[in-house]
Amino acid sequence: MSFSTSTTEAVPTNLAPQGVDLEQVCQQFGTPLYLYDADVIIRQIEQLRSAFTYPKVKFKYAAKALTNISVLKLIRQQGIDLDVVSIEEAHIGLKVGFSAQQIMYTPSGVPFTEIDEAIALGVQMNVDSLPLLRYIGKQYGNSVPCCIRLNPDIRAGGHDKISVGHNESKFGIALSQLDLVVDVVEQYGIVINGLHIHTGSDIKDPEVFVEGAKRLYAAAQYFSNLQYIDFGSGFKVAYKEGDIATDIPPLAQIMEESFREFCQEYGRELEMWFEPGKYIVSDSGYLLTKVTVVKENPGINFVHVDTGLNHLLRPMMYDAYHEIVNITNSVGPLQPYQVVGYICETDTIAENRMLPQVRSGDVLAIKNAGAYGFSMASNYNSRLRPAEVLVYQGEVKLIRQRETLDDILQNQIEISL
Ligand SMILES: *Cc1c(COP(=O)(O)O)cnc(C)c1O
Repeated sequence: MSFSTSTTEAVPTNLAPQGVDLEQVCQQFGTPLYLYDADVIIRQIEQLRSAFTYPKVKFKYAAKALTNISVLKLIRQQGIDLDVVSIEEAHIGLKVGFSAQQIMYTPSGVPFTEIDEAIALGVQMNVDSLPLLRYIGKQYGNSVPCCIRLNPDIRAGGHDKISVGHNESKFGIALSQLDLVVDVVEQYGIVINGLHIHTGSDIKDPEVFVEGAKRLYAAAQYFSNLQYIDFGSGFKVAYKEGDIATDIPPLAQIMEESFREFCQEYGRELEMWFEPGKYIVSDSGYLLTKVTVVKENPGINFVHVDTGLNHLLRPMMYDAYHEIVNITNSVGPLQPYQVVGYICETDTIAENRMLPQVRSGDVLAIKNAGAYGFSMASNYNSRLRPAEVLVYQGEVKLIRQRETLDDILQNQIEISL
């Protein structure tokens, strides 16, 4: 087989997280399979921690990126707290051993019954709307300390769907409504112990964080009981060669500088919080998938794999680029392929991707699948969700069983017709 476009040879890659043979893992656990490398998670956490010198810095891992309880346990063991966006995630966090005080609960327009439940659990409340603030004031007066999620009106980040800190975004309370916040706080005597922004994902420019911070500092003067400022996340990771990730050390430096100045003006040393999700887990993850069919259509070679947008939504949802390695054939001339899923829906995983020859039965590793991979997976097409394994201290541990057809059917009720 020859292609006119094949000009370069593949650079042989030996992808083996902690020395683990991925092909063998696929034989043992089957495909598709999510695999996470614990060492990479630990490395990412170390990189964050070592970049900051401010003693009162805290990291709250955004659980929604990857919510497997064994991964959460690993992250907790590294001394990281938790950011949750649903009551379910709050319960999972508690089950894994995070204390309620370590859990920041950042809901977005949830029913107030869920708010009551979260308050009963004792997690830190982050308030994202004026009606919610009024509700808490009326029901709980000054007994539930709250953080206010402000919308800094900054448009930054990658894809539009992950840019969440601008005025037309649904998240947070507009800075222009700060006077209304202050009114409600005074009316009910609510204790505001923190201010929060989360501008979006994939922000590489540290200046964006500083700009957001400045807006929070200005708002802080209206609240005298603050214990922390939460700068959210959005740290970008590199998905492909040439991608510019957020450079954490310079970011840490300018943020600390501005924060120290702010604290001096404020009159107290507050805690400085961040909520990284993607940064901690993205790079650790691989979606391992087997090639089912190679279809040589005129002008375009389709590689079908035994997964799709049901297991990895990011390429279709965010136009995300995920590097792909053919682990069963990593040598030879590169050829263009359209890597597509097995779902009855357009589910292109990679377009016009240069890979060494792909044959049916090959195993492909889709990289950077740790964040928003499994956690966004569904049962579309009544497909089973994959198993998950964690490579921990050189050993491959099963951390979620592959679903069975029974799992899909168990909550369905067949009525008599
Ligand atoms: C999703 C989310 C995060 C994490 O964002 P990443 O881009 O994955 O780091 C942090 N804070 C809040 C409130 C979020 O919703």
